[in-house]
Amino acid sequence: MANLIAVKATRTGLLLYNAGMQTEAVQPSTVANSPDTRSRPQLPGLSTAELVEQMQAIGQPAFRAKQVRDWVNKGVTNPVEMRNLPAALQQELSDHLICSPLSLIQRQCSEDGTRKYLFKLQGGGNIETVLIPDTSRSTVCVSSQLGCVLDCPFCHTGTQRFSGNLTAGEIVAQVLAVKNDLRREPLSNDLHAEVTHVVYMGMGEPLANEAGVYNSLRLLMDEQGLNLSRRRITVSTSGLVPQIGRLGETTPVNLAISLHAGSDALRDELVPINRKYPLAELRMALDTYPLPTQRHITLEYVMLAGVNDRDEDLDALARFVNPERERVNLIHFNAWPGSPYAGSAMQHMNSFAKELIKKGIRATVRRSRGDDIMAACGQLKSHLDLGDATSARGIADIANANKHKAGE
Ligand code: SF4
Repeated sequence: MANLIAVKATRTGLLLYNAGMQTEAVQPSTVANSPDTRSRPQLPGLSTAELVEQMQAIGQPAFRAKQVRDWVNKGVTNPVEMRNLPAALQQELSDHLICSPLSLIQRQCSEDGTRKYLFKLQGGGNIETVLIPDTSRSTVCVSSQLGCVLDCPFCHTGTQRFSGNLTAGEIVAQVLAVKNDLRREPLSNDLHAEVTHVVYMGMGEPLANEAGVYNSLRLLMDEQGLNLSRRRITVSTSGLVPQIGRLGETTPVNLAISLHAGSDALRDELVPINRKYPLAELRMALDTYPLPTQRHITLEYVMLAGVNDRDEDLDALARFVNPERERVNLIHFNAWPGSPYAGSAMQHMNSFAKELIKKGIRATVRRSRGDDIMAACGQLKSHLDLGDATSARGIADIANANKHKAGE
């Protein structure tokens, strides 16, 4: 994302204002898919100790590592912008490290402050990242894979061909890129100015990329790095049971489960990994996941009209939930082009939540954010070929169509 502000980056002037939506296509600065893309260490993927080692390797004293760390913590990864470093060292860092593994292709800003970023990876492929600001917190939703193999039929990401895991550096770089963007273009005054929370709910199944995710968690929580508390980080999974156990043992951050059905018959259809790890096995994994006091596991339940929002679905869900340790988050389904489902009406979602509450279950209806820019839950998919106005306009059209649907 240093490329968002990179000196060479030229905005194409493609500014589409559609009832408050702003799309900016950014012509990436020359980011070559060089053969050594992943052979050099990625700066955002270095712990403080590793950064010191890297600096020692090029004959630099420890205080220089501290200076670089301070810049990175602010979201600045382009050495040219690290103003207190000598030019020779800036050049050396560029030569020895992959300083900015992502380059910004496009940023879209929603009326509600949500920002969606489309990044190109230096190693090839595009990913999306979303900033969801609120009055008391600002959350970055990161991608962990290029596409997803799990093929949940309601999910837009699942329609994208899987082409690899992200490295820890590429995951952390998404958070740094958003921080840098917020430095350069702050949010409106009523919204929280700093990144406070990170959720692994973007493209991909995080627990199918354990190495990248665990290492990125370590970096996000590094006291000399971004120093995020584990209470402010959430990993969402479709229910990979052995991996849930390992996450609990190694890095027990907040856990969210893409549940979407309370019976095996329906979940086999909506979340196909359920055929491998059915609800009884998921139940055991959830019951043994370590929880700090006053924390809950979140069960995500996207509401699909006539599919999982009937009385029998509510009963099945209520039977599955452990109210002592879990809460249910009902999510409005955000349509994407070609999706085979329709979302439940808001009124029905509210009464579904009330029925769960009557049964002693904590249930909330999640306010949908950023759906005018297709940044809402289940809508992420990396749109390609955004260098021309036609395709960018296509996205604006889809966004407008969603906006109109929401208003109907
Ligand atoms: S819901 Fe999650 S696990 Fe399922 S296809 Fe989408 S990204 Fe993959």
